[in-house]
Amino acid sequence: MTGGSLAALASGSVEPAGNTYVNPRKVLLWESTRKEFREALEGGKLKAMIVPTGSTEQHNEHLAMINDTASVTLVAQQAALLLYPQVMVATPVSIGISPHWMDRKGTLSLKKETFLAVVYDICESLQTHGVQKILVLNGHGGNVQPLRQNVPEFGKKLGIQMEAHSYWEAYTPEIVKRYMVSGKAPGHAAEFETSFAMAAFPERIHWEDVDYEKIKPHLHIKDPKSAIQEEEFAKEAKLATTAKGEAMINIAVKWTAERLRGMIG
Ligand SMILES: [Zn+2]
Repeated sequence: MTGGSLAALASGSVEPAGNTYVNPRKVLLWESTRKEFREALEGGKLKAMIVPTGSTEQHNEHLAMINDTASVTLVAQQAALLLYPQVMVATPVSIGISPHWMDRKGTLSLKKETFLAVVYDICESLQTHGVQKILVLNGHGGNVQPLRQNVPEFGKKLGIQMEAHSYWEAYTPEIVKRYMVSGKAPGHAAEFETSFAMAAFPERIHWEDVDYEKIKPHLHIKDPKSAIQEEEFAKEAKLATTAKGEAMINIAVKWTAERLRGMIG
C-alpha cells in the first residue's frame, strides 16, 4: 500500500481492498441488529441465507451434546465469511431427529413432523423478509433423509430457491481415506467428530474421569449392534488430532462456500 492510499484509508475516503478483516458476528443473523439485517437485504448485498440444522444428543462419554449444532454452525459461519457480505447464517435448529439415541441419557429428540415444521417456519420467516435463496446446511445424521425429501417441496411452496446438504458431503472417499485412520467420517463421537471438536472447540471435550470400559456394562444399550458400534466409536475417538480436524473443517467450509456460489450465480 502506498503512503497516499494509506492516508486516504485513514480518512475513510476509500474502501480497503481484499482480505479485509470482517468481524465474524456480522454474518450471524441472531447477533445482528434489525438495522444491519435490513440494510444488507435492501442494499442487495445479501443474496442467500444458511439455515443450520443440528442436534442436542449424547456424544458418547467425552463430547458435549451440542456437538453437531456447534459443528454445522461453525462451518456455516466460516463459509458465509468467505462470501461476505453475500451470505448470512440464520439461528441454528439446535434439536434434531434423534430417537435412535434415546436410550442414552441427555438426548433431546424432535418428532420428524415437528423438526420439519420448525425448519419450514424459519425459512418462511426469511422468505417474508425477502430472502430468495436458502441453503439448509445439516450437521446431524437423523435429519438427512427428512430434509432431502422435504426441502425441495418447501422451496416450491415458498417460491424461492432452496437446497439441503449435510456438510460432510464434502468428504469424498479419497478425503476420508487420506485424513481418517479409522476410514470413517462423519461417524458418531469418533475420530472425525472428536478431531473437529479439538480443532474448533476443545472446551467441549471432557476426557477427565472417562473410563469407557468400566462404564460399558452399566449403559444398558438395548440394541446389541448399536452397543458394538458405540464401543468401536469410543476407541476410534482416541485417534483424533487437532490437525485432522483443521483439515476436515477447511474442506467442509470451502465445499459449502462452493455450493453457495453455485446458488448465488
Ligand atoms: Zn455428532
